Amino acid sequence: MSDHINELFDRDGNLIGALLSAEAWTVVKKQVLDSLGIVDKHAQPEKPEPVADWETLKEYWDFEYPVDTDVTCEHCGNTTQDWASDDPRRFRLTSANLAGLVSFKCMQCQSKIVKKHFKDELKTECTPYRDSKDTSKEGRYSR
Ligand SMILES: [Zn+2]
Repeated sequence: MSDHINELFDRDGNLIGALLSAEAWTVVKKQVLDSLGIVDKHAQPEKPEPVADWETLKEYWDFEYPVDTDVTCEHCGNTTQDWASDDPRRFRLTSANLAGLVSFKCMQCQSKIVKKHFKDELKTECTPYRDSKDTSKEGRYSR
């Protein structure tokens, strides 16, 4: 047929599949996946949760209150008492550091929830997810 497509037949001459060159596959992959309704899980891999960072923060916890595991999204009302025990996650840990800054993404509305641990108090900020952020930038800077 072409250098890019090799149809494969069994010994009775029945078509059993097709082999595409890497080049051809790259070109048609999206259409093929779309038309077959296959979700490409590798298209936009979620970054793994930095659970190790959270563990480190817990290890060196020197705030004047116990470790907090509850997360609440002020934007959509999503809430959990212990984010780490939710399966599937209601909130994904997106960052944690020794300064006491812990961020989550709300799996329901994509809001960003930041828990700021200060010595004697805890402050929570909720920032609704904005999809337009990147596209408006694109418009502004595109040629
Ligand atoms: Zn939410």
